[in-house]
Amino acid sequence: MVEILCEGVKIMIDTVECPCCGKENDMSDALCDGLSSDNKTDWECQECGEEFEVYVEFEPCYSASKIEYEECDMCNKKVRDIYREGRIFPFPKSLEGKKVCKSCWIEQYFMETKNA
Ligand SMILES: [Zn+2]
Ligand SMILES: [Zn+2]
Repeated sequence: MVEILCEGVKIMIDTVECPCCGKENDMSDALCDGLSSDNKTDWECQECGEEFEVYVEFEPCYSASKIEYEECDMCNKKVRDIYREGRIFPFPKSLEGKKVCKSCWIEQYFMETKNA
């Protein structure tokens, strides 16, 4: 089992047994070239040169953080999932520099698309 850091995500990797010759392949180099979106990568066996597909499983990682409520700049409601510029796209121009709750965002967003 190897532990590596890939793009800020800590992942544990095992060796993978080649389906052709049975050789244990060390997967520690396989990942940082990037995985496809389904976490699969093609790998060439270090022993027999046969290519096979490797599926990488990421260990779930839990970290606890305090729940933070933020106040909506539009309606003053306290919400957990505040919408702010940079976090939500598209972000309505009328809300620039503000943080708002979801319903205010929806309201402004539709208002803006209607006027556009
Ligand atoms: Zn092989
Ligand atoms: Zn609001």
